[in-house]
Amino acid sequence: MRALTVTPGKKDSLRLSQDFSEPDEREGALLVEAVAVGVCGTDREIIAADYGEAPPGEEVLVLGHESLGRVVEDPTGQFEFGDLVAGIVRHPDPVPCANCAAGEWDMCRNGQYTEHGIKGLDGFARDRWRIEPEHAVKLDRSLGMLGVLLEPTSVVAKAWELIDRFTERDPWEPANVLVTGAGPIGLLAALLGRQRGLEVHVLDRATDGPKPQLTHDLGATYHSKPLGDLGFTPDLVLECTGAPSLVFGVMDAVGPCGVVCLTGVSTGGHQIPVDGGALNRALVLENNVVFGSVNANARHWKAGADALAGANKKWLNRLITRRVPVDDYAEAYAVRDGDIKVVVEFATS
Ligand SMILES: [Zn+2]
Repeated sequence: MRALTVTPGKKDSLRLSQDFSEPDEREGALLVEAVAVGVCGTDREIIAADYGEAPPGEEVLVLGHESLGRVVEDPTGQFEFGDLVAGIVRHPDPVPCANCAAGEWDMCRNGQYTEHGIKGLDGFARDRWRIEPEHAVKLDRSLGMLGVLLEPTSVVAKAWELIDRFTERDPWEPANVLVTGAGPIGLLAALLGRQRGLEVHVLDRATDGPKPQLTHDLGATYHSKPLGDLGFTPDLVLECTGAPSLVFGVMDAVGPCGVVCLTGVSTGGHQIPVDGGALNRALVLENNVVFGSVNANARHWKAGADALAGANKKWLNRLITRRVPVDDYAEAYAVRDGDIKVVVEFATS
């Protein structure tokens, strides 16, 4: 069968194997036929050999952590033939730490977790894959190919769950949210903000391309201007760029009792001037919360599946700006102007 593989540690080793071995039954009872995988920055980092770890004893790693497939067989009876599923990316560490032991592997404390297509477990970019049924999430069949958006949606579902916990500490109810960055994570964060009934603002550098209209069609407001010129005070911020100046800028801009969730990963090495004393003063005197959020557990994957099922399908479809057949895989992993989410297709949905 076909599989997209990399040799971790070796730059630009991405290739399409035509005779990759069928998934081992030890990988899980559920056998799934791949429909598509989504492409994201982490994949490009793995291809650049900045990241990535093959399964123990293997030289290559099957790429792909944003999955969509159809169930071929489930001897446990939890899924039916043809069900649309996505595989949960992270598996708990073997120790396990207190959080992994409770199924909250997204909060793993010892870093010994494994991740499909990233760290120690083969990914989903292969014609067939296996997973344990409890690590698969069922998607509404009407979503079709759009189900490939579940992994990034699970990440924002977790971010929103944590924001909710922090806003429950006081009687005040936030009315608006600022989302910085209109990539897939930012636009999906904006979608979930609208589903919560919030006034949503999206800030991004792009002045053309699909992002302004996608934001507008959510019933949200698009801004392409400096943070200081927004003209309102954000109650909540979902930072999805990792750009250091924006990260510190939104901490300063958020209003009293406001919450800032950081989801973007900075590359490091960029020095920017920050008045640490003034920032501390603003955070303390306004009871602000600033927190980081990564990954997702089963509860967030299910919340993400519900969010997608409740979203406008035509809008979701516009997030997928390119669909590339797996045989043309190199094109899928190249960066192109106007890309939001690119998917690699294995089969028709
Ligand atoms: Zn752990």
